[in-house]
Amino acid sequence: MLRHDWTTDEILEIMQMPFMDLIYKAQTIHRANFNANELHLSSLLSIKTGSCPEDCKYCPQSAHYQTNQPSEKLLDKNTILEKAKLAKDAGATTFCMGAAWRNPKDSDMPFLVDVIKMVKALGLNACMTLGMLTESQAKMLKEAGLDYYNHNIDTSEEFYDHIISTRTFNDRLETLKVLRKCGIKICTGGIMGMGETVRDRASFLKTLANLDPHPESVPINLLVKIPGTPLAEVNDLDILEFIRVIATARIIMPKSYIRLSAGRTKISREAQTLAIMAGSNSIFLGCKLLTTQNVDNNDDLKLIKDLGLITTIKDNAKTPMQEQNEILGKIHDNKASSNDHKCIKLNDLLKE
Ligand code: SF4
Repeated sequence: MLRHDWTTDEILEIMQMPFMDLIYKAQTIHRANFNANELHLSSLLSIKTGSCPEDCKYCPQSAHYQTNQPSEKLLDKNTILEKAKLAKDAGATTFCMGAAWRNPKDSDMPFLVDVIKMVKALGLNACMTLGMLTESQAKMLKEAGLDYYNHNIDTSEEFYDHIISTRTFNDRLETLKVLRKCGIKICTGGIMGMGETVRDRASFLKTLANLDPHPESVPINLLVKIPGTPLAEVNDLDILEFIRVIATARIIMPKSYIRLSAGRTKISREAQTLAIMAGSNSIFLGCKLLTTQNVDNNDDLKLIKDLGLITTIKDNAKTPMQEQNEILGKIHDNKASSNDHKCIKLNDLLKE
């Protein structure tokens, strides 16, 4: 039975159980709800990069910090359409677009509506992350055909003020409520290793698990420390603590996709395997996650092959490497079975 009345203490108790018991429990629940050998592959396209007015202490796109992140203006419709077509040709079924905004302005809405319609006309699911939304804006996006919206709560309610001062935790929850009310599927999670306590991590998971219904997708990121941001020198989180968060998320949100997101460059392939074993069933493929470095595609494909995983091509928005294009292109051309769900043993292709 799905629960939405967790306490922080209950979640803390799960998160701190003996590691082997925790992984066993998470894996058991994972197997009861998903194919344990299946992995979703996703990727993201930044449609507007940098100069964000928000002050998220982890983010190279914030205008508050001096980083090496160049600012780019909003991509034009033709460029986005081109990328969406490329994504479709590569086997994508969902196209994710992110803009570094506090919120879209009402004057941006006609453009965003057109973009969603263009993407939908290609037969792709549309996903966006644009910051906070008003109800009328969310309705417009939904009516245009938007399927998913990403809006991370980032950390616990208690720790939130240490990370962001330009908006409140409640602002985040309000946008999530608006999304639900308008019938848009929710992708929301956070970043571990920002200096929070273990209790903060439990409290963060409590907020997600007490959303009713649970978010369809829960990205769990490990902080990527960017020079110039206030979190550039924070102490590293022990990877086993990170795995504990993933396993606990799987246990308390058994039917949600748990996305092993940013920070994989800091994790060994063995630790990534442990994260998948703990119930993470989605990774982002591609050289970049919006602006941060991601794992090399060849390393990802090798890990997928070595683990004998079945991949579900779901959200690929970019094909930054020729090899990925070729492999995903083969999936699209030869193996796709339905518009929503394209499964294939990547092993077979990699052996060719
Ligand atoms: S995380 Fe998003 S909202 Fe925060 S500064 Fe970066 S782009 Fe802006």
